[in-house]
This record gives sequence, structure tokens and C-alpha cells, in this order.
Amino acid sequence: MSKSIQMVDLHGQYLKMKPEIDQAIQDVIDSSAFINGQPVKEFAGKLAEYLDSKFVIPCANGTEALQVAYMALGLEPGDEVIMPAFNYVASAEAAALLRLKPVFVDVHPDTYNIDVDQLEKVITSKTRAIVVVHLFGQSADMEPILSLAWKHQIKVIEDNAQALGAVYSFQDGTQHKAGVMGDIGTTSFFPTKTLGCYGDGGAIFTNNEELAKVSRMIASHGQAKKYTFERIGLNSRLDTMQAAILRVKLKRLDEWNRFRQAAAVVYDELLGDVEGIVTPSRSGFSTHVFHQYVVRVTGKSRDKVKDRLKAAGIPSMVYYPSPLHLQKAFAYLGYNEGDFPVAEKLCDEVLALPIHTELQREEQEQIVSKLKEIIR
Ligand SMILES: *Cc1c(COP(=O)(O)O)cnc(C)c1O
Repeated sequence: MSKSIQMVDLHGQYLKMKPEIDQAIQDVIDSSAFINGQPVKEFAGKLAEYLDSKFVIPCANGTEALQVAYMALGLEPGDEVIMPAFNYVASAEAAALLRLKPVFVDVHPDTYNIDVDQLEKVITSKTRAIVVVHLFGQSADMEPILSLAWKHQIKVIEDNAQALGAVYSFQDGTQHKAGVMGDIGTTSFFPTKTLGCYGDGGAIFTNNEELAKVSRMIASHGQAKKYTFERIGLNSRLDTMQAAILRVKLKRLDEWNRFRQAAAVVYDELLGDVEGIVTPSRSGFSTHVFHQYVVRVTGKSRDKVKDRLKAAGIPSMVYYPSPLHLQKAFAYLGYNEGDFPVAEKLCDEVLALPIHTELQREEQEQIVSKLKEIIR
């Protein structure tokens, strides 16, 4: 094997579309419209079309997208926002910055997504919103979440940083892309996401015209028009260069997602009968775009397995090593070990194997054969 196995291969991906990307970047330089240039609007329009969302508001990153969403929904200090404990930090961090109270809930052991059965128990008179995080590429079970939210008059925010392009099916057969079923959705274009730019980027989507208007204003210093500040906002922009790159990459997203799905099937087959490894399950209600292919290591110490893979030149990652309720930054919320047993167990067992648009079958075979040897 000439090329070493990588967790992601952004350079290999770039080489396959080099002329188009290079031209897009050159065009931005030639235009000198580095901020709010035409590609920003064009990309937002294309993404709206792709998601079947009425409005897309580009912004600086996925964390600020969440902050803008909270602000646009009018959440106020002390308001409770429910979110999964097994999660990236962004939704909790953005909430805490606004003095909202993150309220954690456990996840489902099969899908790693928010456990709908646990959700209603944590709803109080102060609950104003639920952040549904579509983890690793698969939509959470939106239909019961939406009806629960409706029943309790709670807003639904979808953090879709990991599942752009995943399709959710309602009981009646209606299908929607992840991210556009709740009141407001957010995403990140961090380079390693399924749709990543060459720096930081993010977006907010909604079908609600008022929320779109307010989000756009908040992301632009709270300006109604230039130098007229209607509210306190922030400076959260997707720059033109990133938008130009994303426009090129969005055209390939479905093809890339299909490639990831095929690679996941290969892993499933190769790992299917390996004792001590649990492959990721697919829900009946959502497609899975495999932002990550995350197995559970049940037969041996996950950390030891990871170290031995590394020694053999095979990268792997742990998403996430500790649940949010046990992080020092959120100690003030008063949670204890044992509060969310599934999230805690997953943090001990999960291991993400390399999955990306350039991954070769031979590489997967090599990864799995090493893994088998270690786990035996
Ligand atoms: C990556 C990610 C974010 C944050 O995105 P940034 O662009 O890095 O701010 C938020 N939520 C989830 C679930 C993510 O995976």
C-alpha cells in the first residue's frame, strides 16, 4: 500500500475537482468581493433548493448558527433547552453563552440519537426548545419529537451539522431532508463535514419567513439596513471564497453520500460476524449518510484497541470520549455520573473508523483485518 490510510482525505477529494475549485477561487480573487459576494447568495439559493427549505441564511460556523437560532427564537436567560447528552459541545455552549439552561437527555443505544421515550420526562414549564442533533449522519426520529413539541408548545431546532442530505420518512410516507422539519435548522461547513469548505462556515435554514428575516438580521449585527441597528446581533458571515467552494462541492454531495453509504455496507459485511464489535444500526425512518462510521467496541478496552490500530498505522477517532453532563464546563448544572447511562457507556465504547469519499475497499479490508487481529 503506497498511500497511508487516512481518517479523511480532503486533498485527494480536491484533486478530483481541482480545475473547478481553482477557478472558483480565482474568480473570487478577480472580483475582490471577498465579503457578501455573489457566490454567497448563489450558494444559499442552491442549498435551499437541495434541502427544499424556503430560506437559507449562511453564517460563519455551525456553533454560531445555533446561537443565531436561539436568538431568533427569542429564547431568554433561564429558558430551558433540551439536547442529547451524547453530543458535540456546540448546542450546549451556545445555550450557556446566552444564559439559557441546557437540559440533557439520554440517547438511544442503537441509533446514538436522542431517546424520544426519555424526552417528555425532562419537559418542564420552563422548557422552550429542543435541539435535535442528527448524529453521525442519521436523522433522529422526528415525527414523535414534533408531536411532543407541538403538544407542549416547544420549538424544535435541528442541528444538522452531521446529516446533510439524510432523508427522514414520516409514517404516511412523506419524506423530508434532515434539518428542515423543525422550526429552524443549522449546519456546519467545517472541512471534515460531509459538505465542508476550506475554512469555517455554517448556515441556518427555516421555512418561516419571520424567523428567516430575524436570523439574517442577527447574523449581520442586528442591522435592518446598513448602520441601522434594530437589535443586538453578531458578526457571523460565510465569506465569498468559502461560498464559491461550497457551490462546487454541493453538486457532488449526493454522489459522495452514496459513496459513503456503499463504504458503510462494505464495513458492515466485513465486520458483521466479528465478536466484540457492534456495527452501527440503521433506523427504519431515516437514511444514513455516514458522516462517521461508528462501531462499539464491547469485547476489549476501546482505548487499547485504538492505540493498537494507531501503532499499525490505522487512524480512528473517538466521538465522543465524555458526555456533556460530565464535562467540567457544565458541572454547574449539577448532573452526576449515572444520570445518562447509555451516553456514558457509548463514550467508553464508540470508535469511528475511517470513512470518506476517497476510501478504497482494499483499505477497508486492511483496517478490518487489523481490527479483527486486535480484538481476537
Ligand atoms: C461540527 C458540529 C458543530 C459545530 O460546527 P462548527 O462549524 O465547528 O462551529 C455543531 N454541532 C455538531 C453536531 C457538529 O458536529
